Amino acid sequence: MLRMTSESAAVPTRSKPKRQQAVLTVQDKTQVSENLVRLCLGGADYAKLNRNECTDAYVKLLLPQPGSGLAAPFDLERLREEAPELLPARRTYTVRRWDDANERLWIDVVVHNAPGQNGIASDWAETACEGDRIALMGAGGGYAPRREADLHILIGDHATVPAIAAALEAMQPGARGYALIHVDDEADVLSLTHPEGVVVSWVSGPHENLLTAVEALDVPPASIENRSVHVFCHAERGLTKRLRSHLVRERGIAREDISISAYWALGRVEDRFQAEKREAIGRIDPD
Ligand SMILES: Cc1cc2nc3c(=O)[nH]c(=O)nc-3n(C[C@H](O)[C@H](O)[C@H](O)COP(=O)(O)OP(=O)(O)OC[C@H]3O[C@@H](n4cnc5c(N)ncnc54)[C@H](O)[C@@H]3O)c2cc1C
Repeated sequence: MLRMTSESAAVPTRSKPKRQQAVLTVQDKTQVSENLVRLCLGGADYAKLNRNECTDAYVKLLLPQPGSGLAAPFDLERLREEAPELLPARRTYTVRRWDDANERLWIDVVVHNAPGQNGIASDWAETACEGDRIALMGAGGGYAPRREADLHILIGDHATVPAIAAALEAMQPGARGYALIHVDDEADVLSLTHPEGVVVSWVSGPHENLLTAVEALDVPPASIENRSVHVFCHAERGLTKRLRSHLVRERGIAREDISISAYWALGRVEDRFQAEKREAIGRIDPD
């Protein structure tokens, strides 16, 4: 899974989720901050997951529709043919940490339960108990900080915190750059481990404040010209489009030096949001 560049830096290749289901059990649950729940999931099926070296490695949780009476593992092919309305919901979560020796992994789930904004995965995480079974597929992933980059820029919101935290931990001690993270609630600000040369800033208030903070970043034009900036930018869809426009069109950062996609979309359940990636509204890159 590792590709070596001319600078001998290990760069993970893009990894697509495997279709095999792994049924794991909840082994532990901790409240990381006001609205972030950490779940440790483990079991012998761990081996079925396509563990990879991307710092943004992600799994798909398969959650039964309430009232369906179905439980993991799911016969997805049969459901697709005979009762598509009963197909489990798929929700994407970053693997915050892998533990091969003990066949377990951790995911951090944002609990967003404002009226009209609660979701099946957020509700599941809030009520999950030790011993609960959960089906997962994966893992996919596509980014790890480039060792040869002289400036890293990490941009995200609450849902991106696990991926940004993993990226910061994977950086070389001498790495330099910025991490800008938006949270709705200041009680969700965390103390993240990061190289001394990376400035981590938390932004609150309206989501647009994240864009304003990115616009104010001091990025040497020479780093952009010589392609030594590496950007990771993932947030709510509408905001991510505006961030892309700023980074590529206004700053002139090469698209190949930016890992960018939407992690969720306001007013959309994830199944709809994922389906919309095939439509104009769902595309982050203009045609
Ligand atoms: C590659 C990838 C990695 C991701 N990693 C993580 C992760 O590690 N942790 C994490 O918490 N999320 C992560 N997400 C985002 C997560 O998949 C979505 O937030 C997902 O929609 C949550 O599912 P749900 O069932 O709770 O809500 P849904 O049923 O999908 O949505 C219900 C309602 O909640 C709103 N909503 C969805 N997510 C949020 C949110 N974060 N804040 C406020 N409102 C929201 C929607 O707009 C919708 O109106 C990731 C997404 C991707 C694509």
